[in-house]
Amino acid sequence: MRVIQHYTGSKLRNFTYFIVGNQGHAFIVDPWDGEESLEKVKQESALVKGVINTHEHWDHTRGNEVIVKKTDCPVYAHPRAKGKVKEADVFMNDGEKIVIDNETELMAIDTPGHTFAHLCLILFHQGRIEGVFTGDTLFNAGVGNCHNGGDPETLFQTIEEKFQTLDDHVRVYPGHEYLGNNLGFTLKYEPGNEEAKSWQKKYESIDWENSPQTTTIAEEKKINLFLRLESNGIQLPIGHEATQVSRDRKNTFLTLRELRNHW
Ligand SMILES: [Zn+2]
Repeated sequence: MRVIQHYTGSKLRNFTYFIVGNQGHAFIVDPWDGEESLEKVKQESALVKGVINTHEHWDHTRGNEVIVKKTDCPVYAHPRAKGKVKEADVFMNDGEKIVIDNETELMAIDTPGHTFAHLCLILFHQGRIEGVFTGDTLFNAGVGNCHNGGDPETLFQTIEEKFQTLDDHVRVYPGHEYLGNNLGFTLKYEPGNEEAKSWQKKYESIDWENSPQTTTIAEEKKINLFLRLESNGIQLPIGHEATQVSRDRKNTFLTLRELRNHW
């Protein structure tokens, strides 16, 4: 099994993912460009077995139409995406799985917050969790916004319950390339974060088109403020001292999410 992380070059810096099983079956997660996605699968000498949309926003579904027209493959989505994602015809509840090959499966997890029709996909390989496709829920060094059909308190619950609990080695595959921006946010509110500083240096030399990069959960716990709610190094601005003193995880999360909206 191979995971191909494809930086689409879209204005919103979307990633599309290809999960190719050892029998040559490919699943496409969040196709930005249908034609380009089909071409990529062809280059892998694989056959398209399905499209999976993490959620209903247009930039995660816009490639569906072309792919379905040319391959007639199923489109998987969250049950609440019914009627919102035109092409979706298989709806995955929390815990439901797709078999990729004889040693690889994808499991849907219900992850409301960015929207209420959002699922993430846990990648099991040889019985072990190797990665998670996070759509617009968890980003490298950040979390999704809640502007278009979401709710910050729900996002907090999802991050606490579904992502804080993942093992350190698990690889994070986000829906967008926001790492550079998010590192700036981390360093603004946790200026002493040395890991974020070294990632910022590394970021400058990443060639997104040819060798895109991502992080593990262990790395996220070092550079993502939304996973570092109890860090003493986080300095909230004037007006948020109450949060600073009480160090309540939820309040800190909501304050950071609010600050990120205006950053
Ligand atoms: Zn979205």
